[in-house]
Amino acid sequence: SILHVHSSQHTYPIIIEPGCRKRTFAFIDQYITRKPTKYLIITDDNVAPLYLEDVVHSFPSSETVETYVVPSGEQSKSFKQYEETVTAALKYRLDRRSLIIALGGGVVGDLAGFVAASYMRGIPFIQIPTTLLAHDSSVGGKVGINHSLGKNMVGAFHQPSLVLYDPEALLSLPEREWRSGFAEVIKHGFIADKDLLEWLVTHVTSFQEWDMDILSEMLYRSIQVKANIVQEDEKEQGVRAFLNFGHTLGHAIEAEAGYGAITHGEAVAIGIVYALRLSEKCFEVNLQSAPYLEKLKSLGYQLDIPKQLSADGLLERMSVDKKAYNQVIRFVLLKAIGKPVVQGMSGTVLLDELKREVK
Ligand code: NAD
Ligand code: ZN
Repeated sequence: SILHVHSSQHTYPIIIEPGCRKRTFAFIDQYITRKPTKYLIITDDNVAPLYLEDVVHSFPSSETVETYVVPSGEQSKSFKQYEETVTAALKYRLDRRSLIIALGGGVVGDLAGFVAASYMRGIPFIQIPTTLLAHDSSVGGKVGINHSLGKNMVGAFHQPSLVLYDPEALLSLPEREWRSGFAEVIKHGFIADKDLLEWLVTHVTSFQEWDMDILSEMLYRSIQVKANIVQEDEKEQGVRAFLNFGHTLGHAIEAEAGYGAITHGEAVAIGIVYALRLSEKCFEVNLQSAPYLEKLKSLGYQLDIPKQLSADGLLERMSVDKKAYNQVIRFVLLKAIGKPVVQGMSGTVLLDELKREVK
């Protein structure tokens, strides 16, 4: 199946099709109007042995295809790795009409996308996402790297020219990476698509066994939510904030636990549960979310805030400065499933609720 995303830069297709990585060149030929002079595939050292050959072999021998492999992991979203990647692009003599191909998860997508955004003031790139989480990161055009003072602090909006999503390529993902990415699927359901949540409850039973049709449909529906939101608000001035549902506490848990101790999605799942509870309290509603939370538990999510984290520490992380108690923190809450709002919450209320959770 195919989705089209509109942006101020251009409209680009997202193809979701088992085996499409093996026909990368054919898709580029079909969808990219200006023929690239050469290609640079950027990937990481976990993905390279699994799928790099498939992509390279899709090109006829008349094309110039270079490859560049970075170490796997968040550390590759660094100034140093950025510089080394640009150096490779220069050595391979990429010009303004060359195409960068990001083959991998969110780390490769963010790094390669930022290289594309800045190399010679910007050259085109495409995404071939290989993680579930990358259904979120490959759509919307945010690219960037980390600074020692904060994640994603340097970057750009640079839309891909094409996204080639091959569900087959996800089958090698470890269980934890499934869990990390699936939290964003659940999030998309909560903020915009109750039917998706109900569909997930019946159709997703384990991360070990996937039916290709189910996996493809899940990617399609979840990407559709993200695509609709970023189309409406490309530069994050309004509704794009709803994508932060579950992330205010989620980011705080990730940081407080120490990055890597808990995955992004595992932390976001806990953040979602907390935001649901706050929503019910704040708007005096019953969101009837029990079946969805049961599903998360059955898929191996731990939904309580880890005991070793302190409520005060988390509150401090959630606020921009240290006077968290008197401060109003902007939170994405739900008035109903599919009806998100941004609500200022007082630090005191948040802390009370946190203390109920972490004893
Ligand atoms: P990742 O790219 O590090 O991938 C996770 C791990 O899985 C890595 O070890 C990777 O080598 C491995 N891997 C990738 N594909 C595989 C496969 N098919 N089989 C086996 N192993 C595979 O991380 P991620 O979770 O995909 O993405 C996280 C990053 O995405 C973060 O840096 C985050 O900031 C970023 N992100 C960006 C956006 C955005 O809008 N740009 C949105 C959300 C997250
Ligand atoms: Zn996220």
